[in-house]
Order: sequence, then structure tokens, then C-alpha cells
Amino acid sequence: MYHSPFLIEDQLVVVPVPQILAGDTVFRDYAIATMEPNSVPYGLIGGGMLIVRAGRILWVGPEPCGWRSEVKVEQFFGDGRLLTPGWIDCHTHLIFAGDRSGEFAQRLSGVTYADIARKGGGILSTVRATRMVNEEELYESARMRAESRLRQGVTTLEIKSGYGLDLPNEQKMLRVARRLAETMPLTIVATVLAAHTVPPEFAGRGDDYVTHVCEDMLPAVSHLADAVDVFCETIAFSLDQSRRILEAGHARGLRLKIHAEQLSLSGGAAMAARLGAVSADHLEYLDESGVKAMAQHGTTAVLLPGAYYFLQETHVPPIELLRKHQVPIALASDFNPGSSPLHSHQLVLNLACLLFRMTPEEALAGVTRNAARALGLGDQVGTLRPGKWADLAEWDAHSPAELSYPIAAQLCRCVFRRGVCVHAVSV
Ligand SMILES: [Zn+2]
Repeated sequence: MYHSPFLIEDQLVVVPVPQILAGDTVFRDYAIATMEPNSVPYGLIGGGMLIVRAGRILWVGPEPCGWRSEVKVEQFFGDGRLLTPGWIDCHTHLIFAGDRSGEFAQRLSGVTYADIARKGGGILSTVRATRMVNEEELYESARMRAESRLRQGVTTLEIKSGYGLDLPNEQKMLRVARRLAETMPLTIVATVLAAHTVPPEFAGRGDDYVTHVCEDMLPAVSHLADAVDVFCETIAFSLDQSRRILEAGHARGLRLKIHAEQLSLSGGAAMAARLGAVSADHLEYLDESGVKAMAQHGTTAVLLPGAYYFLQETHVPPIELLRKHQVPIALASDFNPGSSPLHSHQLVLNLACLLFRMTPEEALAGVTRNAARALGLGDQVGTLRPGKWADLAEWDAHSPAELSYPIAAQLCRCVFRRGVCVHAVSV
């Protein structure tokens, strides 16, 4: 029997290579960035081997010299290339119709995002377009966007509603998310964001809309969603209104998420943390008391450098405070037509390094380990350790830092979901 040393949470554990069975899959000769939080940067294993059984990781470690399988199994040979956990895009709005390129031109001439929103543009223009299309059209456009993410190494995708803002159209969006989960080799987390903005029918009656969301919409959509979210901001919902939405979602068994402190400090992140939110997202204006509340309640910070870049923000999220209080930092695309039309997931890492001064290792953890936590899936995906799903991405790279360095490159070579190859570039 072969034995291999493997670091698990700083403990050097000698784990024997198990006997291979027919039906197993073996990945050999990879630089494996496990992203396990041990003393080795990236949890990296050189000359690594990973064994998959029934879709889950059975064993991972350095390949013992002279090892060979005694039964015929599927094997992939990496030739030293990098293997990482499949990436997780933990904050997207990728189901929508219409486009907002006209607003882009307006913003370049000096009109602010908030001004556009107040005049009925912004989110509401996407709401109008999304209400007009049928479910099939909405599904087809979303499927193409999800497919693009998959080809870039993403195996888990969070998708929010929030462009329907009435019951039939919120249901339509969430059914599209469910259908994507059924038809694509992706894990989809569906989040109801009925409280994205106040719809025109409730103009000037934000409290009434919040009551409608809590009493009518959430009970009717909770079976289609995994989480509830709210946009807590001066141009959207107040702290009290946001609390009502989250409490109603919690009562329906949904995980809690919040868009908070993007354009101003509202206290939304701390409020959501106290209610047990899995994540608070954006956070440019988060202060230390908010950071402490998130640390205390185990809430993950989701930073969205695409929106920061596209809106030409200058207020950088409090990275040092998040580090100081050990709040896990996830990164996501925030893919949406108005404030973050960001198609390259690799660019998310590069932007986070350059705009937020995150390290390449923090950036990779942000789209793997910490993104899993932001969805409440930390025990299933996000790192490569025995027992987790074998969701993997293979890269045309030999070291993990190469993933953050190029601008909008496409280095993903193969994607494996639950051990099965679901995308491969032709070489
Ligand atoms: Zn968002």
C-alpha cells in the first residue's frame, strides 16, 4: 500500500491511497490548488493526484512514486497544469432582457447612476424589458450567459430575480433559474430579490410594496428559491424595510443575503449579520462596527469589483478591516446589464487585485472557498478535500498566481462537474 503525506488544517496527515475501483476517475500529474486553509499557500500540492468516486473527492495528495491503478479506470493527465476547485460566481443577475448601453453613454456625459435610477431608468428599464419577454426567450438568453460562465471554469452560479417586481414576473424569473439548474451541468442557487427596487405600480409607496413582498410574494415563491436578498440603499429600501424583507424570508426558510453599503453607509450589513445572513454584498462604505458584526455572526463579505469599476467608484471596500477581523472575502461578477456587464470571470480576480489590493491568493479564495461560504455551501464545494463534490477546473497555467495576472484572458482548459468532463477546449 502507498502512503502520502497531506496537510489538513495544518496537521500533516498520512493518508494511504485507497484501492481504486471500477468507475473511479483519477487525475494525475497536476499542480492542485486545493484552497484548503492550511499553511501551504493555495493549499498547493505539486505532482498531485486526485481520485473521484461517485462524483465526490475520495482522495487528494502527492502521487506516490511508481503508483499505478490495478483496475482500468478513466484517467486524466495534467502534465503539471493547474487544477483548482470549480469557480463559484456567488452574486449575479444574469436573467434579464434588454440592454442598457444607452445609459452607459449618458453616464459618460456626467449623469450619475443614482440620477438615472430616479428618472425611471436603471433597474426599472430592465424591469420593463424583462416583463415583456416570455419565459422561453428569457430562458434562452440566460442559458447562453450561464454557458459562457461554465466555459470559464464556473461550476456553481447564484442567480437573483429582481427584474420582475410583481408576482407573475418574479415567478417567471425563478422558474428560469430552476430550469437552468435542471438542464445545465451547473449548481444553481436561486435568490429572490423582489426587493430590488420599488416598481412603478407602487411609486411613492415603498412600505406598501414591502408589505406586498412579505405577505404575498415571498410565500408564493419560496419553493422556487434558496435565498432572499434586498437592496438596502438610499435609492432602494431603508434599513427598516430591509429588515422586514429579511425576517419574512427567514420565516420561509430562505438563506439571507443583502446588497448593502454600496453607495452610502446604511447599517444594512450589520443588521443582516445579526439576522444570520450568509453574506453581505458590495460594502464599499462598510465601517468597522459593521465589519465586527459580520465577523461575530459568520457573515461573508462579497465584493464586486466589476460594479466598482463600471460605476467608477472611488470608495474602496475596507479590505484591511475585513482582514483584521478575519471576515472571509468572496468575489463575484455581479453580472447585470446596468452596473456590471462583466463577461470575463477571470477579470474579476484581476480587478480585485488591482482595484482593491487583494493578493492573488485572496482573489482565488474569493471565487472558490469563500464564495462557497457566501452561498452556505462551504461543506459541499469550494475546496478540494475528500467528501466534497469533485467540481474542478483545469487551467492553461502552472501556478495559481497566473490566474489573477492577465487582463481578461481565458485560461480555462477543462471543466469537470462531479468528476465528469462537461467542457473542454479543443487543443
Ligand atoms: Zn447585485
